Amino acid sequence: MKLNNSYFFTLREDAKDEESTSGNLLVRSGMIKKVGAGIYMYLPLGYKTLNNIMKIIKEEMDNAGAQELLMPSLIPSEYYEKCGRVTIFGDDMFNLKDRYNKAHVLGPTHEELFTIAAKAMVRSYKDLHFTLYQQADKFRDEPRPRYGLIRVREFIMKDAYSFDKDEEGLDKSYLNMKNAYNKIYNRLGIDYKIVRADNGAMGGTLSEEYQAITDIGEDILVLCPNCDYSSNLEIAETISSLEQNEKDKKLEMVHTPNQATIEDVCNYLNIDVKHSVKALLMNADGELVICFVRGDRELCETKVCKLLGIKELNFADDALIATSNAVPGYTGPINLNAKVVIDKEILQMKNFCCGANKEEYHYINANLKDINYDLVGDIVNVKEGDKCPCCGSELYFKKGIEIGNLFKLGTKYAENLGLTYLDENNKENVVIMGSYGIGPGRILASIVEQNHDENGLILPMSIAPYQVALVQIDMKDTKQTAIAEQIYQELIKNKIEVIYDNREERPGVKFKDMDLIGIPLRITVGKKINDNLVELKERTKKEQEDISISDIVQKVQEIIKDNLK
Ligand SMILES: [Zn+2]
Repeated sequence: MKLNNSYFFTLREDAKDEESTSGNLLVRSGMIKKVGAGIYMYLPLGYKTLNNIMKIIKEEMDNAGAQELLMPSLIPSEYYEKCGRVTIFGDDMFNLKDRYNKAHVLGPTHEELFTIAAKAMVRSYKDLHFTLYQQADKFRDEPRPRYGLIRVREFIMKDAYSFDKDEEGLDKSYLNMKNAYNKIYNRLGIDYKIVRADNGAMGGTLSEEYQAITDIGEDILVLCPNCDYSSNLEIAETISSLEQNEKDKKLEMVHTPNQATIEDVCNYLNIDVKHSVKALLMNADGELVICFVRGDRELCETKVCKLLGIKELNFADDALIATSNAVPGYTGPINLNAKVVIDKEILQMKNFCCGANKEEYHYINANLKDINYDLVGDIVNVKEGDKCPCCGSELYFKKGIEIGNLFKLGTKYAENLGLTYLDENNKENVVIMGSYGIGPGRILASIVEQNHDENGLILPMSIAPYQVALVQIDMKDTKQTAIAEQIYQELIKNKIEVIYDNREERPGVKFKDMDLIGIPLRITVGKKINDNLVELKERTKKEQEDISISDIVQKVQEIIKDNLK
């Protein structure tokens, strides 16, 4: 592409309303432009880059034997109602009515329609298995769109769905997709981790996420330095390291006036906070649920929701608390008149301190036999330094951006929408599904978060909109024009993507722009052509190299080939 008479611009100033590096750099490089909260246009340069990402995804999906199709975004609500997902998605789904007052949604994800597509074809076990996919728009009414392309309300997603007759088939399909994903992310040049994850709104039995390691990640990844344990914080586990050989002491109520937090109480009583239990008074879908965790632990909402089978957990208000005998600040699990959930760690605790359900009083030397509870489960967040559940090493945290996921869905959608097949004995069975997502826009943002410097983007060869920037120093020099034009044509002939900066601009402006938009290679055509030389510079390197005009195209081809290995 020649820049003169083309749509191309960059911004010198930082974008005012972009809080992430990637959002700012993508806006400044003229790749994207914000339309509204969490809504962006991809301008030509950005769309070309996005397409390069989608092309790699498509190639590996096709190689894995998946078949591409295209689903609509505008979908009658009834499909989502049948699977209970109108409630599960709630306000996150865009709902609208057509002119006949019929309810529709803008598809937040497409399990339902793919199930319907499979149903149109599947009759017997001989029709299974297969995998379908698309790369199409998704809509989610995010409460807090932010970080440029990372949390948006409309985005392209690659979603694939596998259909199998049994668990064994699903295992194979899942592994097949996982292998394809590894190839995709390796080709894209992303620094990523695969972690165990919560199944969330999808349902099913197993879920893994591909997480790009970045500083602004919205997910916290729990990793082991010693084995391959890796998990999203939401479901990360640890093994308790508490001493268990203490004898039960005598339960005693003690006066604890004016102590605001469990830390204050423990300080006041000279007790290690690890030997205390604190209460969290929660509203679980309208019901008061009081959760007890070790004093230094954090409650994990996702785990509680899963344990109770509810969608949302909030702090209880005074009216809800008043339905029990709990005294905020002094709530304990002894003689408490409410639904009580305790963390499993408490099962191993001895002689701990807890509230006495009486203003200004706590118990010390409480033990399991003293307390009453309805449910016990893992309901706390793992902390850095906790022990790995597999090998006992100290866990550490990293931040990540979810750029892909794999779900073993099971039979939920097939059951609700009647996707069945006849087996070898003519018996009706339900089809087993998997779903597999990738977000190309998030991938672009993550790559930029991981690859940039003070001058702008540093795009990997595999996704850069152009592999080579051809910069002519003096546009009035006809000899330079002839040489530049000759190199330009030769690059195109060799199927190399080249952007030829033939604008009437100062060289400094051209260099700055080509650096900002992150083109991997730059060829400069200037005065050295009198010695038959041009300059070649890699975006990742400081120095440039003089190359003879007759060798430049071959040299460029070699570097590109090397980069794409
Ligand atoms: Zn480990």
